[in-house]
Amino acid sequence: MKREKIGAIVLAAGNGSRMKSKTAKQYLPLDGKPLIYYALEQFQKSPVDSIVLVVSQGQEEYCRKEIAERYGFSKIIAIVAGGKERYDSVYAGLTALTGCDYVLIHDGARPFPDQEIIGRVIDEVLKSKACIAAMPVKDTIKIANEENDAIATPDRSSLWQIQTPQAFEYSLIKEAYEKILSQGASGITDDAQILERATGKCCKLVNGSYRNIKITTPEDLLVAEAFLKDLE
Ligand code: C5P
Repeated sequence: MKREKIGAIVLAAGNGSRMKSKTAKQYLPLDGKPLIYYALEQFQKSPVDSIVLVVSQGQEEYCRKEIAERYGFSKIIAIVAGGKERYDSVYAGLTALTGCDYVLIHDGARPFPDQEIIGRVIDEVLKSKACIAAMPVKDTIKIANEENDAIATPDRSSLWQIQTPQAFEYSLIKEAYEKILSQGASGITDDAQILERATGKCCKLVNGSYRNIKITTPEDLLVAEAFLKDLE
């Protein structure tokens, strides 16, 4: 029986302005290796067949030598330049990822997508065509108005914090991106939103993990270091 081909897009084309560092956050050292190494290592070890790495314009050659070759990430089939917004970078990745039936889209700034999460996401996308890693929120969430008055408290039991990987049937998400980008996208921060806007289709939530954090501000690096120590 033919096995479905599964690709991954790993995004590392953001400017990481909230990190307040001279080095782009995807290359900041974490236990001696660039941050982006950790997510790539997990996809390399997983059942994913091929990986497209999306980097800032001009970083392609550096990443080919210093990341793909240096660490032996043989599943990387292309390193392409991203765009201004995350959704532009995803679209560049989708265009470069040819021959796949399903695609997992992952923020390179999340170093801990372990094999269990990747396995759960793959199992679910094969069943339901669209799923996203997520965890129940721990804090109470408020909605604020422009004057910073807390004006509503959504029921916490129905709130989830959304992570990546987000996984889709390839043709479904590619067509959704084409539709939304041609209309002029704005305010879109994840791939599930693209599918919602383009088709009204829901994504299944799959358990991620509370360790699958996104490195955004300097204190997140301290937390990531503690997680790495715990894995030793
Ligand atoms: O900005 P944010 O933290 O939401 O970015 C999530 C991921 O998307 C990061 O891994 C970042 O490198 C990537 N990104 C990108 N291209 C952009 C903006 C963000 O690849 N234009």
